Formats: sequence, structure tokens, C-alpha cells
Amino acid sequence: MKRTTKANLPRRNALRVVAAAGAALAGATLGAPVRGEEAPRCVLTPAQTEGPYFVDERLERTDLRSDPADRTVQPGALLTLALRVFAVDGAACAPLAGAIVDIWHCNAAGIYSDVDDMRLATRGAKFLRGYQVTSTDGRVRFTTIYPGAYPGRAVHIHFKVRTRTSQFTSQLYFDDALTDRVHVNPPYTGGKRTRNAQDGLYRAGGRMLELDVVRATQGYAAAYDVGVRRA
Ligand code: FE
Repeated sequence: MKRTTKANLPRRNALRVVAAAGAALAGATLGAPVRGEEAPRCVLTPAQTEGPYFVDERLERTDLRSDPADRTVQPGALLTLALRVFAVDGAACAPLAGAIVDIWHCNAAGIYSDVDDMRLATRGAKFLRGYQVTSTDGRVRFTTIYPGAYPGRAVHIHFKVRTRTSQFTSQLYFDDALTDRVHVNPPYTGGKRTRNAQDGLYRAGGRMLELDVVRATQGYAAAYDVGVRRA
């Protein structure tokens, strides 16, 4: 569920690419809820495939940009990702505390760390991977970069929510117009990429999986409410 009060508007209208500070100020002036404090919509998030690149690194950290092996830092537009996880039970939901939330995504050049296949040979590297445990109010926060693109897929971030008794896996997407603006700058290659509408996975629930992104002082701030079925 997108953290927006304008969920019925077309995506291009719902996307609020404005200075985060300005948005917070405007919200306060208008008496609107503070960003990230809105009541959850208690909607189940569509599950999506894990894909071939999940690695259970057990790497607990908030900043995913560095590689713990050699301390190199992935370049790219700064992205802070704030998730709230809710256990949904019918029309009601409650924050899901103590859940492990893993995030993994490709770098600006479309490369995943710690994999070895026909396209990639990055075994041992651990950039752009990590997990956080949800707080009592179901929150996790990550610092990372805006993902690049790789052949055949729309721009996305993978995530997995695990409790002792349940597991939920899906992907988060970006507005194409925003990606156009981000990817035009280095280190992104800015070439032809698979757009949301061309991606079969996006077409299977992707509209409900689009991040709510705002411009921040540095880079971008993205938010999303994850609704998982109550175990
Ligand atoms: Fe992927």
C-alpha cells in the first residue's frame, strides 16, 4: 500500500517530487498528517517472485552502500527507504514488530553483489544487501542508492519479510518519469531500459508496489507500507 492520501489518483499525480522539507512544512501548515504518520490502509501487499539473486547474508545494517569486504561504496543517487510493516487481518491491521526485513537490489550499472551466473561474477561482494528488524511500530529504514537497470526488468528493489512463522517476498518499483530524471546522470548509464509497462512482473501487481518518492535535501526519500497476512 502506498503511503499517500491520494491513492486513487493516477500515479503521475500521486508522485510528489518536491523538497522533503517543503512538503513537511506544507503538511504542517495544512494540518495534514506528518509524512509517514498516516494511518495504514491495511491492504495486503502483492507478493512477487524472489528472483535468482537473493542471498541470505544475515547482514544487519542500515546503510547498504558499502561492501563490508573491501569498504568500497557504491556510487549513485542517495535513496533513503522507510518501510512500515503491518500484519493485516481482514480490514484491520497492526504494526508487525520484530520481523526481519531484507533488501537487495542492483547497483547503478545493473549489477548484483555476491552472485555468479552467465551475466554476473561478483561472488564475495556484499554491496546493496542487508536487513533490519522492525521496531515496535513496524518500521525499518535503509540508506542506499537509487537502483540502476538490468536487461529485461523494470527498475526495482527486492524485499523479504520474515518472522518465526512466516515469510513474505515482493519487489518495489519506481515511477518511470522519475527514473528517467535520475538515470540521466552518472554513474547511471542512462541507456534504453525496460519500462514498468514492459515488465511482466510489474504488470502483475506493480502499480500497488510503486514507492512513494520525494526529493530530499540529498537525493530521494522513498516510503512504502507493507501489508502481510497475519500469521
Ligand atoms: Fe532483481
